[in-house]
Amino acid sequence: MPLLAAVAASLAVGACSLAEPGAPPPVVRTASAPNPAFTGGVVATSEPEAATAAAAVLDAGGNAIDAAVAALLALAVVEPQSSGIGGGGFMMIHLADSGETIAIDFRETAPAAASPAMFGDADFAIASTSGIAVGVPSALAGLAAALERWGTMSLAAALEPAIRLAADGFVVGPRLGDSIEAGVRAGGRLAHEPGNPAYDEARRVFAPQGRPPAAGTRLVQPQLAATLKAVAARGVGAFYDCADESGVARALIAAQRAHRRGRPELAGRMTCADLAATAAVGPTLRAPLTGDYRGAVVRTMPPPSSGGLCLMQMLAMVERFPLDDGAAGFGFGAADTLNVMMDAMRLCFADRARWMGDTDGRPDLPVSGLIDPAYVGRRAASCPDPDPADDAYCLLPGQRLAMVRAGDPRPEAGQWRPAALPRDGDGGNETTHVSIVDRWGNIVTATATIESLWGSGLMVPGHGFVLNNQLTDFNLRPTASAADGTFDPGANDVGPGRRPRSSMAPTILFVRDAAGRERPVAAYGSPGGATIITTVFAITLNLIDHGMTLQAAIDAPRLSLTGAAAAATTAIEAGFAAATLSRLAALGYRFAAPAPIGSVQAVTVDPLTGRQAGGADARRRGTVIGLQPAPAP
Ligand code: GLU
Repeated sequence: MPLLAAVAASLAVGACSLAEPGAPPPVVRTASAPNPAFTGGVVATSEPEAATAAAAVLDAGGNAIDAAVAALLALAVVEPQSSGIGGGGFMMIHLADSGETIAIDFRETAPAAASPAMFGDADFAIASTSGIAVGVPSALAGLAAALERWGTMSLAAALEPAIRLAADGFVVGPRLGDSIEAGVRAGGRLAHEPGNPAYDEARRVFAPQGRPPAAGTRLVQPQLAATLKAVAARGVGAFYDCADESGVARALIAAQRAHRRGRPELAGRMTCADLAATAAVGPTLRAPLTGDYRGAVVRTMPPPSSGGLCLMQMLAMVERFPLDDGAAGFGFGAADTLNVMMDAMRLCFADRARWMGDTDGRPDLPVSGLIDPAYVGRRAASCPDPDPADDAYCLLPGQRLAMVRAGDPRPEAGQWRPAALPRDGDGGNETTHVSIVDRWGNIVTATATIESLWGSGLMVPGHGFVLNNQLTDFNLRPTASAADGTFDPGANDVGPGRRPRSSMAPTILFVRDAAGRERPVAAYGSPGGATIITTVFAITLNLIDHGMTLQAAIDAPRLSLTGAAAAATTAIEAGFAAATLSRLAALGYRFAAPAPIGSVQAVTVDPLTGRQAGGADARRRGTVIGLQPAPAP
């Protein structure tokens, strides 16, 4: 079957129920309900209130960009443990009219005074809960710029649902309750430094009795509402300008000077000038990374994300295997499939640790080399003569790569021998993801984050938002080294104005029609730290190789290996066959106890009929709202 028809078939959503003009209001469904098809737009978010906000924007004639901004701002209120105006993110936009796809980078940056060794000898737990971990928040600057350039509504209008949710409150659901519980528990991010106002603030707002609000309680956030209202009234300057009457920027700078007790060197280094520069410069617009996988076109996030580079590497590595062919030992969940997936993950995570980071101002970091077909081919398809001593491996089912090291993707490769094994990737299941398609076929898929659950645990007193701890996505100790035999470019070392390496990978999949025109068919992404990368990889395989419907692709169990080291453990969900895991264990793979991985929100467009659908993740409170066609005027 040609790819276009095959993809259309797998995205087909069964009996569709397009309503007549004057149709009832949007249909709300949870993650596992049957999936109808729509043409008036679809939103998928991790919390129902944000989906409702976005759907109302689409219903009122807004486009996908308007709806995405409204959704992300609403999530800042109802999912404050995961994202917010104290954080940052990435957004991919596909514009139906021009056919352009743009990556918007509003990742937090290191302040001008940051330096490679600024974390000193602090460990992650201490560094990530001190002001030194706080990156310059870029979310509002990014969202406002996206709205201004591609949206149709004002920032004030896009803020309305968020302001309402903050001012009037919303009912605390089990996920927020659990997050508060985890935060205030001993060692949790909301449990540090009692008596210090910047640490006390989050406890005061979210756990005034020292525990989560009782089920059914409305959480009202008047101070966050006031901050958002100030931005609605005076623009992003109300957040970024230390001279603004809101006092937000000055309070933010003061809050990030807080640090764990006895560690004054871990005070944040951000200044009013850093905030002003972020507002003035705005987000960075980037060309998406683009590659082919079995005839489909994949567009994903470039650096400072490692997510897109790893996704492209892994897809190229597994493309030579018939992953859909059960008779050949492959198919979803088969030992051979998981075997090659896990070793592709290890190969990419080895390269990630050495070569991936913010490439702005770093032409020495080999972006195109990392996804060059000759390089990736040498890395993982060099059978029958692999040379592990030289970074080339024989990726084959039935064996586990003994020792995986970073390769050398530079044009002048081969001048050095890899030394230390890279450390395991970072984990976590924070952050949030939104995917939206509108009635015109514009698509937005965006991941937003404050990094850890509750970010740094610091909250700006009197202004209602949590500060990220994104800078601990940098190497805590600089790794740059030019020593003979141990060359390391320090790709992810801290530097002034640099962005920490991310895993976030909002991705859009296209197929080509008979005329060779690319048509978007799916947009997706996930939170989950380094597991974002393996989750987006799995969704891509589920859709293309395994021919799953979108919801089945999301519901299917996942596994994630984010470290290259021989002892690295695979995170795994329940649902894989015990016999399969035993076979893999016999090859040397180690599995952790089952736990949920990621939270995918996605939309699809049937390339043949234009019908739209959404899929959301029951691992959180994933919600899809689809709209019927707009009534005739
Ligand atoms: N800070 C992470 C990143 O940018 C995201 C955090 C998470 O999803 O847990 O890759």
